Amino acid sequence: MTFTTRFAPSPTGPLHLGHAYSALLAHDMAVAEGGTFLLRIEDIDQSRARPEWEAQIYGDLEWLGLRWPQPVMRQSDRLPRYQAAMEQLTAMGLTYPCRCNRADIEAAAGAPQEGMPQFGPDGRIYPGTCRGRLPGAASGRDVIRLNMEKAVRAAEPGSFTETGPDHDGTHHLDPEQLISAVGDIILVRRNMGGSYHLSVVVDDADQGITHAVRGADLFEATQIHVLLQSLLGLPAPVYHHHRLIRDESGRRLAKRDDARAIAKYRAEGATPQDIREMVGLPPSSS
Ligand code: GLU
Repeated sequence: MTFTTRFAPSPTGPLHLGHAYSALLAHDMAVAEGGTFLLRIEDIDQSRARPEWEAQIYGDLEWLGLRWPQPVMRQSDRLPRYQAAMEQLTAMGLTYPCRCNRADIEAAAGAPQEGMPQFGPDGRIYPGTCRGRLPGAASGRDVIRLNMEKAVRAAEPGSFTETGPDHDGTHHLDPEQLISAVGDIILVRRNMGGSYHLSVVVDDADQGITHAVRGADLFEATQIHVLLQSLLGLPAPVYHHHRLIRDESGRRLAKRDDARAIAKYRAEGATPQDIREMVGLPPSSS
């Protein structure tokens, strides 16, 4: 069996220790299996992506000792591919254009109801205001949403295999949970060719990813990805959600944590082996 992993950073800030852990782990897992480690630049949000951050990602990863095949996949080159996937879902009758802004959604959501989740892995659960609009009515200012009730009826009830430390095992999608606790997710954002969920699913399939290694914060989003794979007829990789690297107070690291940027450790004279030790990985054999 082939074994292909990837590291998929967004070039919106410096890589920190959490990114180093994710990239090194995905790389080590591929090497251990005689497989391939790929890099993907998730620059779909062009309002936040910067070429200088992308250049620094390459420099930091090379310094860490990682190598990957060229050319690197970049989401900004792939907008027609995401559009085609969205159109495939539209042809199945599963999408609608939505013109609600954040305030509209807050207002329509109304007072929280006891026992009903307000937020899911795609943010606030959409109250369905635009659900009756037809795809043909879409204007450039709309987002495109997935009608979750129709989607779970159209898809095979899927499942996925998780090998990470917290949720090891087989997970079956729960249609009711997808409807009530995830809701009508966004497939295409304003001024963006595809949402994170749509693009990650299409990219993992097109790169032939067999093992998606990523942070535990994305575990809840995996049910969305597996549903989209099922609808689009794409293979589901095995997922491995790893622990998050936290600071001394237990907070997970964020892009703004410049103090833990790899570039800073590099400037202070740390070695790649020091970084491995800091994130709890064994020394590299290469
Ligand atoms: N681009 C995402 C991030 O930087 C990772 C997405 C994924 O691994 O599925 O958090």
